[in-house]
Amino acid sequence: MPSGSVPRINLRTLILLFALLAILATLLNDLYATYRIQRETLVHNSLEANRAYAAKVALTIGQSLGEDLARLAYSARIIGEDFRLEAHRGAEARRLAEQDDSFNTVIVADAQGRIVSSYPTSLSVNGQTLRSKVPLEERRAMISPAFSSLVGNLIVFASQPIWSPEGEYLGLVGGTIYLHKDNALNEIISKHFQQDSSYVYLVDGERHLLFHPDPNRIGEQVGKNPAIDAVLRGESGASPIRSSTGRDMLAGYAAVPHSGWGVISQQPLSVPLDTLCNLMLQVVIGIIPMSLLGLMLLWWAASHISRPLSQLAEYAGQRASEEGIRKVRAWYAEAWSIRRAMIIGALLTQERIGKLNRQALSDPLTGLGNRRVMESALNDWHLLGKPYAVVSMDIDHFKRVNDKYGHAVGDKVLQAFATLLGQNCRDGDLACRVGGEEFILLLPQTSLAAAAEVAERIRRSLEMTPIPPAGQITLSLGVSHCGAEQADPSKVLDQADHLLYQAKQAGRNRVMAEV
Ligand code: GH3
Ligand code: MG
Ligand code: MG
Repeated sequence: MPSGSVPRINLRTLILLFALLAILATLLNDLYATYRIQRETLVHNSLEANRAYAAKVALTIGQSLGEDLARLAYSARIIGEDFRLEAHRGAEARRLAEQDDSFNTVIVADAQGRIVSSYPTSLSVNGQTLRSKVPLEERRAMISPAFSSLVGNLIVFASQPIWSPEGEYLGLVGGTIYLHKDNALNEIISKHFQQDSSYVYLVDGERHLLFHPDPNRIGEQVGKNPAIDAVLRGESGASPIRSSTGRDMLAGYAAVPHSGWGVISQQPLSVPLDTLCNLMLQVVIGIIPMSLLGLMLLWWAASHISRPLSQLAEYAGQRASEEGIRKVRAWYAEAWSIRRAMIIGALLTQERIGKLNRQALSDPLTGLGNRRVMESALNDWHLLGKPYAVVSMDIDHFKRVNDKYGHAVGDKVLQAFATLLGQNCRDGDLACRVGGEEFILLLPQTSLAAAAEVAERIRRSLEMTPIPPAGQITLSLGVSHCGAEQADPSKVLDQADHLLYQAKQAGRNRVMAEV
């Protein structure tokens, strides 16, 4: 950040958000893939079950119709043997009608379509003419579409031609199935096991419902729909369709042999979709415990990863010491590099501050302490009640050295004197340069007499040590002392200065000490 406010979001939150996003994306992707595969499977299974069911029902109805036609063929042969005899025709019609439940009624018609015998006789249709002339014209085994009978019943009509033994066409024998009453067809369909919410209906070649679970719809002519279209073309199979009532359905269909009819078994699409929804709900519920565990792991990992960087960031903000930064457990490469750089930075800073401190406290020319160092030491000793002595020193006629040899030689003299001063004091003594050619020596735990001795030793030492090219240099010294009475440090200093002044007055190159 070049400037401005610190961003509020931190690394741990970022890692968490990123990982959460990734997990969520994966989860949604997985759920979507599961949904698609399961949907395909459920739809496929439903289509397949309906196809198989429609095929089974169609086959059974086909077999039943085949058997009906075989029975009619047998009766046609029997009647043909003595067609003219009323009692013969009537007896055979009765036998056929009563032998089983195949037909609700049986009729015999002559070659012109006039009904000449019927059973049960209560029908009273003898003498009437057949509604459809098609079986008479075709003269073959036939099963009709649904139509309304002479007495008003909705029926289908199966018939066989009657031939005389000489091969003359005599008429036909036919059986009717009453679609609105108990009959062979609905018995077959309802006998079969039916899947939940699947239902079957049967259509004839003219799209009339011959069977439907809703009895009110039997006889109704249904609209166009792809399954009915296919089945009436004689095809069998399965496909998703929209029903005549506008619902999405999964339909299986199969053509019924001998008849031109078709069986359609269908299930609303919503049924497998509801199953799918429940399944997905189970999947989501199943995922929750693992997701929570994953979240906790994620939380832990995010904290673990971000901790070194967070701690380093905190230390960076505080300008912490190098020891503090060393405590950070930088367990991966980037954090380790940053920690290393910060430690180096902290060390460099410490070194630079130390240098600046030293520069601020020492005199650059001689390396001795400056006035600030002196004042600080005096204050400390004053606070601690430590006794000390002060030697105030001033080089004699130093101006002349400068004037005669130049400033550089003057500096050299000052440096040489500083070295000499160092050689003449103990550890713990503090030598300071407090002005141009003015020096102070602080002597802790030193009596006045001892300090005066030190001052004298310094004086003599300088006097005896010529400094080329300036030659002999001398200095004047004033010695004061602060004992148990603990005078103010400035007063002790003033006293030493005053004595120094007296030494100058007295002719220089001498020590004046308190009396
Ligand atoms: P006195 O014996 O009375 O002390 O005479 P003096 O000449 O030593 O005293 P004065 O105070 O008149 O002169 C001090 C001289 O010290 C003046 C100044 O040029 C010189 N001086 C002060 N600081 C420095 C310095 O850092 N280097 C050099 N070379 N000369 C300095
Ligand atoms: Mg001076
Ligand atoms: Mg001087």
